Amino acid sequence: MTWSRMSFKGQSVWVNVDDGGRPVLDSQGRAEMKYRESDSRSYRPAPQNLLPSDAPAEPAHSPRRPTDGPARKFPSHASGDTVHVWTDGACSGNPGPMGIGVVVVAGDKRKEHGEYLGRGTNNIAELTAIRRGLEIASELVPAGDRPIRVYSDSSYAIGLLSQGWKAKANQELEASCLQSCDDLEATYRKKGVRTYQGYVANLSETCDPENEVQLITKVQVAPNNTNDNSLLLEALPDLKDRTGLETLYTDGPYAGPDVDQALQKHQVEQIQTGITGKILDPNKLYLADFEIGQDELGVPTHLTCPQGQSVPVELSRRGRSYQADFDPTVCLTCPFHLAESCPAQPGKKRASFRLRFTSDQMAVAHRRRKMRQSKLEGKNPRSAIEGTVREVKHPFPAGKLPVRGLFRMTCLMVTSAAMTNVRRIHHYWEDKRKQARQKMAAEQGPNAAPQQQDLSFASFLKALLTSRRAFTARPNAYLGF
Ligand code: SF4
Repeated sequence: MTWSRMSFKGQSVWVNVDDGGRPVLDSQGRAEMKYRESDSRSYRPAPQNLLPSDAPAEPAHSPRRPTDGPARKFPSHASGDTVHVWTDGACSGNPGPMGIGVVVVAGDKRKEHGEYLGRGTNNIAELTAIRRGLEIASELVPAGDRPIRVYSDSSYAIGLLSQGWKAKANQELEASCLQSCDDLEATYRKKGVRTYQGYVANLSETCDPENEVQLITKVQVAPNNTNDNSLLLEALPDLKDRTGLETLYTDGPYAGPDVDQALQKHQVEQIQTGITGKILDPNKLYLADFEIGQDELGVPTHLTCPQGQSVPVELSRRGRSYQADFDPTVCLTCPFHLAESCPAQPGKKRASFRLRFTSDQMAVAHRRRKMRQSKLEGKNPRSAIEGTVREVKHPFPAGKLPVRGLFRMTCLMVTSAAMTNVRRIHHYWEDKRKQARQKMAAEQGPNAAPQQQDLSFASFLKALLTSRRAFTARPNAYLGF
């Protein structure tokens, strides 16, 4: 057991230390301390309250949280080689808005730093404060050959950085947590098993098979925790207004009662290429397998089952759902009932086979029916958008945009989408010209005049930029996300 002089709350004390001069901690993470080396009685202070005896003569309270009381005075200079870094991080609510405070003292140099970090947890704030403190220390003492002593009141940070604790997985990170201090609008998102940081870009493009060239018609960029529905709701009026949108192909997440309402308002038919939610059992019947008759207000009036039995639909007694009662004499001999695959079931006191459903379930059933119908027709115009996304991201190394901030991201995405459109128009016109030349050569035979050279992309771009018509022409198409 080695006792070494240290400072505790401004008093010189003796502390049990290891060979490296660090306090020996007990199972509860406490150090052993005596006021005199000869004392038989020892105390168990928190290690962060112990300062080296060469530390500046400062009351050795740990840095306080801003709400704990008046701000603590830190020394303006420190003796010896050691760089002292006091750090504290806190949040209001956990998680909540986070902030940090850092004081770095290296000899007669001193720097204070305070920063708002966005939303997050106390642990994130404490660790960020230490990181920022070390960054400031390395700026203050660029040579980097001086020992750095970090003071923190976070047992999590101390355990993690000096006692081999394992860091928690990022479960405590909120979607809106700040990802980079240089990019305050970037966010974090977990989608399936993958996690993403930064922004989401949403592209719309024409996908009418009758169009000779398909063009990107809208680019939206938002923090990547933005709901897909909000992107669609924002884009819909503009797309309808500019392009006369009639049918919209989207994938599963662009759905919900608010989306249905907006689609109805703008008279746009939506066809999804996937539906989110549970995976359906192919051996069972679902509401989507029944034909739902509706009146002009969208209220269900009758239901026709796959066996051809059509019955009226009524509002349930509590008025929260709809119900349809099927004839038991037909149902009892129905192969779907015998295979236990029909959702219409008899009650304890009721002989009829009843199927209940809500308005939301009816909307999902409609979407599912339209998706099936589209698949039967062999249509999936949305599939091209995956290639378009790659095309727009292609110019950037590893698909990552070399800028920060929502505004710059948006500018770059819009520019890249515009260039994609220009490239497509160029290819289209070049194909047209080639076909015309081939046709002319075939008509004129071997005495044909020498052919014109292809128009380079640069010349084409110049010509296009000087032609206002190319930008104002209305595309003859419907659109998809
Ligand atoms: S069990 Fe009844 S409701 Fe279900 S499919 Fe057969 S006939 Fe139609």
